Amino acid sequence: MTRKVRTRIAPSPTGFLHLGTARTALFSWAFARHHGGEFILRIEDTDVARSTQEAVDQIIAAMKWLRLDYDEGPFFQMQRLARYREVIAKMLADGSAYRCYCTPQELDAMREAQRARGEKPRYDGRWRPEPGKTLPAVPPGVEPVVRFRNPLDGDVSWHDMVKGTISISNRELDDLIIARPDGTPTYNFCVVVDDWDMQISHVIRGDDHVNNTPRQINILRALGAELPEYGHVPMILGPDGDKLSKRHGAVSVMQYEEAGYLPDAMVNYLSRLGWSHGDDELFTREQLVSWFDGHHLAKSPAQWDAAKLNWVNAHYLKGMTDASLAALVSAQLARRGIVASEAQLTPLCGLFKDRCATTGELADWLGMYFADVAPSEQDLASHVTDAVRPALRALRDKLAAIEWNKAAIGAAIKETLAAHSLKMPQLAHAVRVLVCGRAQTPSIDAVLELFPRDTVLARLRSV
Ligand code: GLU
Repeated sequence: MTRKVRTRIAPSPTGFLHLGTARTALFSWAFARHHGGEFILRIEDTDVARSTQEAVDQIIAAMKWLRLDYDEGPFFQMQRLARYREVIAKMLADGSAYRCYCTPQELDAMREAQRARGEKPRYDGRWRPEPGKTLPAVPPGVEPVVRFRNPLDGDVSWHDMVKGTISISNRELDDLIIARPDGTPTYNFCVVVDDWDMQISHVIRGDDHVNNTPRQINILRALGAELPEYGHVPMILGPDGDKLSKRHGAVSVMQYEEAGYLPDAMVNYLSRLGWSHGDDELFTREQLVSWFDGHHLAKSPAQWDAAKLNWVNAHYLKGMTDASLAALVSAQLARRGIVASEAQLTPLCGLFKDRCATTGELADWLGMYFADVAPSEQDLASHVTDAVRPALRALRDKLAAIEWNKAAIGAAIKETLAAHSLKMPQLAHAVRVLVCGRAQTPSIDAVLELFPRDTVLARLRSV
């Protein structure tokens, strides 16, 4: 590669960071890191009515959580208006842009007439200067827009990193408005000036932008700018084949943080949506960076698979030390209003982590160690029966007197079973329902050992 690799992610701060944008950010980041290049964060906030500071904060928090570190930015388009105006003035001066005084009514009439003739509605170029052409007289009181003078003939072609060669005829493109009557620049124009000024070498973005690309290339050419390479990544689809949206569940990155997913697992999972490295499913960030050379990007859309994400997350969760898991679970419990120290949680995480996919699930389990439990009527009725009540009372008395460890608890349970001619599940299920609030848990002696003895005795006292 001759040019220094510089990629960017350019979210609009009109809401949370969508999983699709996070995936594009990840690809742009990994590609830049692979080539020893730079990755830039640019906030496209020109939609003033819909942009919010809260969304900016969310975007930055999500990038930080995923550890997609950027080398430059955040840049804000609203802080670059003077620069856009400067470029527009230059284009007006060199003839690559022109003022158009058509009123909205005139444009409507133009489109109406084109439709009536069975033509595709497009700007007819009436204010476009041409050699030997006389332009209409400037009407009084009309603030003009500025239009880009798009080439009339030929094709715009580029070799897309994802889709291969794409070619669009200039006849399909009319003269794009680059500045509104009040002088504010339009979206496609700002993107071009930014990609040019920020020396972006590779634009990796969602394929919902593929129609903008020929227009952007034409403007870049008119500016004499070096063209970036483009890669348009297909959208992520929901399980039903529609574009992934709220309807399918959480689509905001930070909702996954809240639910207790791990950033490394998210990065691993997201990277496989539309990219592959052989059959590899589980790999480190370092491997991703060393493999992500811009090849093997899929042309067909990837489908969101919540079960697979859980599987990947469970893998990363098992790989963490109990102490580092405890810190995350402590934060999860705090959100539920439960205070539990990391030291208390460390052995508990060790016992329960194998059955959990997220730290949120771990917190759901471990809450029973720190807050009262509320067994369901149904569990109480089916497990805490008159047949086991005497055994429960006998067990409680034994538990009050033994040394508090797993072996002694196990022995007390076995002795009680023998004395009352019960089978293990009968007694163990009843103890679980009363102490843990649910009938299924890991091995009961191991679970009980981690409670303070008094809590266990108190919860068994109700029988
Ligand atoms: N602001 C655009 C978006 O959020 C991205 C534009 C681009 O990547 O060129 O979809």
